[in-house]
Amino acid sequence: MRTVFTGSLLLSLVVALMAAGTVGLVGYRLGGGIWPFAVALAVAVAVVLRPVLVRARAVREPFPNLYRTWLTNFVPVYQHGTPDEQARFEALVLAFLAEQRFEQVKDEVPWTWERKLAVAAGAATLLLGRPGWTFTTRRSFLLYPETFDRDYFDGAGHGDFDGMAHQQGPVIFAAHALDVAWAYEDASNVVLHELAHLLDYAGDTADGIPSLLDPASAPAWERLVRRETQRIRVGKSMLRSYAATNGAEFFAVATEVFFEKPVPLARRHRELFDAFVAFYAYDPRPPAERTDAAPEDDEDGDGEPDHRLQIPPKPATG
Ligand SMILES: [Zn+2]
Repeated sequence: MRTVFTGSLLLSLVVALMAAGTVGLVGYRLGGGIWPFAVALAVAVAVVLRPVLVRARAVREPFPNLYRTWLTNFVPVYQHGTPDEQARFEALVLAFLAEQRFEQVKDEVPWTWERKLAVAAGAATLLLGRPGWTFTTRRSFLLYPETFDRDYFDGAGHGDFDGMAHQQGPVIFAAHALDVAWAYEDASNVVLHELAHLLDYAGDTADGIPSLLDPASAPAWERLVRRETQRIRVGKSMLRSYAATNGAEFFAVATEVFFEKPVPLARRHRELFDAFVAFYAYDPRPPAERTDAAPEDDEDGDGEPDHRLQIPPKPATG
């Protein structure tokens, strides 16, 4: 499964310089001399470099021990990580917290440090194996006390969304869902789900073919999704039925299962597991479980590869 690199700093710089050049040229034609060029150039460089400087400053901060304890208790990828991986994870957390906007919309559900860290931990989990990927900076994260509907009404009887991600707009979480996202390794994690949608959106639309995937891999990806969706429909999948809604939900739900239950996923859905290891460039299983042996899919979940089911039983002797 090949993926494409989205390195955008150089592209941003080129676009900014072109914009500055155009503004400068207009200013020059209007008789402003070289000053419009100089000012436009300075503004362009500052706009492009600001996020880089914000990130560089954020990751130099010491990582709070309080955060370290919380991650050790709740976030499997951090728990199992090598010291080098944990250091990268911590840098990703600090960068995310500095780059995003956590906006208070309801007084009764404040953005506590645990809640912000719960979201940042999801971002670090998804990006750990992909240093070239980033989430759009300055995105708004909002918190609602209850589930909500498409129009963001919250409270009893108003919709059943506990998370929502928009391509250009905010990411919204219901506080009760966010608070238990990392509490259990139950293949359900609203943070991983909504942030996976953002990776899917990184290109044009969320169609379940992540835009970071090399287009050459798209047909194989679609075949895999079709086959796994079929398994969901006949009740032989670890993925909950919501994954069969469409390709985008399949990707988001499969991401939750991949990071929350990697060991059984590798055993029962080997091809899917391998595709996600390739996509995220990371094997989330505890190191002791990362064997090279790739057993065949185990649809019935009995712990044995399915081909063994076809071996006729040993004839009774005696
Ligand atoms: Zn979704």
